[in-house]
Amino acid sequence: MVNQSPKPEPLTARVAVHPIHDLLEYLVPENLREKVQPGTLVRVPLGKRENPGLVIELGAASGRKELRPILEVFREDPVINSELLELLRWAAGYYLAPLSSLVELALPPGLENPPPGEPRTHLFRIAEGLDPDKLLAQVQPSAPVQAEILQQLASSRELSLSDLPPERRTQYLRALREMKRKGWVRGFYREEELLAGAGVKELTSDQEKALAAIEAGLRAGIFETHLLFGVTASGKTEIYLRAAARALDAQKGVIILVPEIALVPQIAGRFRASFGAKVGVLHSGLPRRERIDSWVRIQTGQAPLVIGTRSAVFAPLPAPGLIVVDEEYDEAYKQEEGVRYNARDLAIVRGKLTGATVILGSATPALESFANAAAGKYHLLTLPSRVDGRTLPPVTVVDLRAANLGSDWTKNPLSPFLKERIAAHQKEGGKVILFLNRRGYSNSVLCQDCGQAIRCPNCSVSLILHKARKILLCHYCGFSIPPPDVCPACNSHRVRMFGVGTERIEEEMTRDFPGLSFRRLDRDTAHRIGAPARILRDFAAGGVEMLMGTKMVTKGHDFPGVSLVGVVLADLSLDLPDFRAAERTFELLAQVAGRAGRGEHPGEVVVQTFLPDHYAIDLARAQDYPAFYRAELESRKKFFYPPFSRLVQFLVSGVNAQKVEESSERLKEELEGKLTGGTTKPGKAVQVLGPAPAAYAKIRGRHRFQILIKYPPDFRIQAPLAKILELHPHRQLAAGVTFSVDIDPQSLL
Ligand SMILES: [Zn+2]
Ligand SMILES: [Zn+2]
Repeated sequence: MVNQSPKPEPLTARVAVHPIHDLLEYLVPENLREKVQPGTLVRVPLGKRENPGLVIELGAASGRKELRPILEVFREDPVINSELLELLRWAAGYYLAPLSSLVELALPPGLENPPPGEPRTHLFRIAEGLDPDKLLAQVQPSAPVQAEILQQLASSRELSLSDLPPERRTQYLRALREMKRKGWVRGFYREEELLAGAGVKELTSDQEKALAAIEAGLRAGIFETHLLFGVTASGKTEIYLRAAARALDAQKGVIILVPEIALVPQIAGRFRASFGAKVGVLHSGLPRRERIDSWVRIQTGQAPLVIGTRSAVFAPLPAPGLIVVDEEYDEAYKQEEGVRYNARDLAIVRGKLTGATVILGSATPALESFANAAAGKYHLLTLPSRVDGRTLPPVTVVDLRAANLGSDWTKNPLSPFLKERIAAHQKEGGKVILFLNRRGYSNSVLCQDCGQAIRCPNCSVSLILHKARKILLCHYCGFSIPPPDVCPACNSHRVRMFGVGTERIEEEMTRDFPGLSFRRLDRDTAHRIGAPARILRDFAAGGVEMLMGTKMVTKGHDFPGVSLVGVVLADLSLDLPDFRAAERTFELLAQVAGRAGRGEHPGEVVVQTFLPDHYAIDLARAQDYPAFYRAELESRKKFFYPPFSRLVQFLVSGVNAQKVEESSERLKEELEGKLTGGTTKPGKAVQVLGPAPAAYAKIRGRHRFQILIKYPPDFRIQAPLAKILELHPHRQLAAGVTFSVDIDPQSLL
């Protein structure tokens, strides 16, 4: 071998640049050769602009065309390691999405150019042991803002910068900095511990068994998925904590996913109590600077334990060894726009790619997950009883047809029985959760003469009355009008409200329980950053006797002292035209019921319904998941729905209804041509259904048609679908008509 050292071959890099669909090729200049690797963050020219991009792979220049050079490398080392890059490529292929969009999900915005300086703390409290009133006496008259802050801290315990009017932020910050210097206040990040975690607990024998099985897999360092099926309050978090400790001992990283940002503070608090600064938090609600800071701490190994929402499945941990998906059934793990990925499913893929242990935890597993456990694909771990010998709360069903409510439930949404129970629990000092999965005041406004509901002009839905804001509001596009006195169609004065929302229940409570202190939690009260965490904290800390609201009150919160859970109307989610309606209803009821009886108070649940005999409601009352699973599985089998099939949903939309329909027809023909061309076995055929108007046939002025593909689980659908997508690179079918593709849709609405 002769060692020649001529001029090296020109090197090129294929780079993912958002929002460009395909990878772009650039020349790697001589001086950047050492630095440019797969996973490196770079600056590249794009037309007349310069964009950040991620290097995906390197190659030799073909020399066929002039290439423009990479301009700059942003960080010394690759920001995405090869393992994570492989996950992104896998997801791009599976969800038929551009790789650049997945890169966009995995990197915090602004990483290439983070704002200088330290990240800001966002919550302030009085330093421990100090009395705000005494401090108030020491404030100089020349410092009125400090006095103002102390007064606020005296009444609310803490102050969040995001709650301040923007025009006063600077003023407040200056005062807070001074007070911090004097040792009067302490600053925290928003996501920091807010509800104190408990100390070390004895494990039950069921917990011991589950943990032993998980540890065996962790020690072996092989990929394994455990379905941790534990009733509410059975101590799943304790198992996560111990498994995380084992993984960290073995120098492995840990990812804990929760479905909602509002759940992060509570669980992060419990993990911080054990692992301190090793905990990093990652979700889209973090201010930009904090998010980058947290991401870098995770990427550099300073924070090997990540807690976050769905996008944290892409956390840049050097070596993940344990991935936990808590409340794995939750549909919030599915992103419903952009890349329609499911973080639960990607957690399993990531586990497989890295040889990590995956735990899916739930009291009400997704039907598909339980079926996978039944088929032996997942390892089933069961926690059949609550910790500390507590029992599941008894559930009383109030049949609204029989209850003495007069003819119109809208007039009396709370049955005498439920009211009597609320009063009884209030008297005994118990806490109450009241759940209704609909916000606003009423469900619809209807004319009794012409029968017309007042509808949104842009969407095929009724407008919802929001009484406090004095508007009728569309929950899809935000269109609103003042509530009319007369029917817009026939001028009749007999316009009436039907149905009930959380705002209405709030009014009922204020009228019938004047002494009761309560908070309402729904999208209307939660729109301010940090507000849900504050509402939940007030309820957990005492003082507030009742928490009332939508689905946000049902999620995995652990409130000791809740003795009564009331469900105002259990039927709402059953009416939805979706094959998962029964499953969602069962989950909601079982989850909300599970909030009761977590402390010393024995719990009780009251469920109001017009459909007491429906199996989802009846089995939720009995809290019998296995029976529900069996009943629901039968129905899925009959209609060839998951887990017996897999689904892909195409949603075609545009302003012109006729063009949308015609384009949908053509798309269907293309799909049938590619998918059902005689290649599948009889009885296991791919079905292309539709096009049909979507459940919401019009939203934001765009008409929507749906095509649903059902196919056998062993059929590889991505390759043929990718061929069709190549024909429509911009997901466009005609002028003004576009479509989206949803692999494994969670909701068909
Ligand atoms: Zn009318
Ligand atoms: Zn609308």
